[in-house]
Amino acid sequence: MKILRFETEYRAPRYGWLYEDLVGEVDGDPFGAFRRLDPDVPVDSIRLLPPVAPGKIICVGRNYAAHAQELGNEISEMPVLFFKPGTSLIGPGEPIILPPQSQQVQHEAELAVVIGKRGRWIQAEEAMDYVFGYTIANDVTARDLQRSDTTWTRGKGFDTFCPLGPWIETAFDPADALITCHVSESLRQMASTRDMIFSIPRLIAFISSVMTLESGDIILTGTPAGVGDLQDGDTVSITVEGLGTLTNPVVSEHGA
Ligand code: MG
Repeated sequence: MKILRFETEYRAPRYGWLYEDLVGEVDGDPFGAFRRLDPDVPVDSIRLLPPVAPGKIICVGRNYAAHAQELGNEISEMPVLFFKPGTSLIGPGEPIILPPQSQQVQHEAELAVVIGKRGRWIQAEEAMDYVFGYTIANDVTARDLQRSDTTWTRGKGFDTFCPLGPWIETAFDPADALITCHVSESLRQMASTRDMIFSIPRLIAFISSVMTLESGDIILTGTPAGVGDLQDGDTVSITVEGLGTLTNPVVSEHGA
């Protein structure tokens, strides 16, 4: 099942579900009790929003060995965690805005896990019971600021630095899915999720040993090798096999 959030000109944001190229409304809470209404709106006619409004956006750094190496980093013994703020979220088709403070903004194509129920100290063996579904994220990064600052908050946290979507797929097997990233027709990243250093169950166990995970939280599971610069006028398209494609244009922040 594909769950999404959308809005139309005269109606507030709401959850929907996708059947072929038609969207039906979700009546109720997709993380709890709900029913699916008949699909009757063409998906091309509505504005898709980020498919969830998460309480937390938890990110994992350096979870693919080849990416850690391309930036000159050692492979960590424990997952490297950081947050992105809710204000960094944008939906499919919304522009990534290059801020004037950075000269080096880069894409990071990632598989995102959407948590489905609350838990702390979740064991790896039961971790998949806490997963609602999966979507696609772009962990957009101001690499120069990430390097120059003590923490990654500024380099990872600008508005529009977390494109997410286009929808959540609840029936997806994350074990060996191909992630690709194209920037304006040129292939930048291609790898399988099987190359993650820390598996999704291990990430959920590790993160939930620190903080309570709640329904709607998302975990960005790290990017494979091939990250590169974004320029004004580019278009970034990230595809995860079995999930779909997340596409966002890139524009400079003028007049700042
Ligand atoms: Mg990342």
